[in-house]
Amino acid sequence: MNSLLEMKHVVVNFFSYGSMVQAVRDVSFTIEEGQTVALVGESGCGKSVTAKSIMGLIKKPGKILEGSQICFDGEDITGYSDKEWQKFRGKECSMIFQDALVSLNPTMKIGKQIIESLDNHAVSLLKEEKKKQAIEMLELTGIADAGSCLQKYPHELSGGMRQRVMIAIALITHPKLLIADEPTTSLDVTIQAQILAQMKQLQKQMNMAILLITHDLGIVADTADKIIVMYAGKIVEEGNARDIFYHPVHPYTKALLGSVPRLDKEGKQELQTIEGSIPDMTHPPEGCAFCGRCPYAMKICQQYMPEEVYISKEHRAACWLMDERAGRRKIYNG
Ligand code: SF4
Repeated sequence: MNSLLEMKHVVVNFFSYGSMVQAVRDVSFTIEEGQTVALVGESGCGKSVTAKSIMGLIKKPGKILEGSQICFDGEDITGYSDKEWQKFRGKECSMIFQDALVSLNPTMKIGKQIIESLDNHAVSLLKEEKKKQAIEMLELTGIADAGSCLQKYPHELSGGMRQRVMIAIALITHPKLLIADEPTTSLDVTIQAQILAQMKQLQKQMNMAILLITHDLGIVADTADKIIVMYAGKIVEEGNARDIFYHPVHPYTKALLGSVPRLDKEGKQELQTIEGSIPDMTHPPEGCAFCGRCPYAMKICQQYMPEEVYISKEHRAACWLMDERAGRRKIYNG
């Protein structure tokens, strides 16, 4: 598999009134073609800012700092002009958001909004052919009466239907990467599961990669090939679903897992809340940012940032507990 996206040492800051919010702090990861990667963490931990940096949506007072590299299909896209971003968005990479009602145009019929997405990318087709593609795309997202859906306005549809329409708009141009930012958060659990299953189905058909952004570890177990846990603008752990769900090593990952109901622990699981809150990102701590909330915190955690340690080829974490001197052996040196 080739790397479709490579994030290398990405740093994003927001500047305001003499202060600086350090939203993303030296984040590196890759997404392969056709892979599903989940970016998980509480709100405010930098997930959405990371996603927006891939879409060229970091606007003033935000800034991607020099030295950051975002390579898509081997090309660094951080220096793209507005024109290049316009071409890139939707065609190479599409994004869907949590609130479809806000993202869709309330004054425009669904059909027109889907066809507009094709028009924006200069897809030269006859009007009838565009309509046919719009209907096919809506059907693929699980909308039964797609023909009549084209004639409706967003407010005439249910939340689940609107989210399916958003997916249709995002996918009609066949992007290589779909970024889904909390795509099912506002929906009930059954619809959530249906929509995620539908996205997976479409992913297979289109050989598209997905970056799924969520605060809910519960929804990624069956969905993601790779899970990246972020805290206070940094990646604290990365691994496959088995690593993260059965062999987590970072106390934050463990705390997140403790707050998610699990079928395999039915009856004997007591749900935990994570005490405290994310630190002030205008002055992030010098050492580990989870220090103030971590039950295992040591003196060194306050003073020095933990180095990243590889537990296996695909499983990495940044925590002093994994340092050899803390008595935990580094298993993998790759
Ligand atoms: Fe806890 Fe220290 Fe590990 Fe941070 S580095 S998660 S404070 S043990």
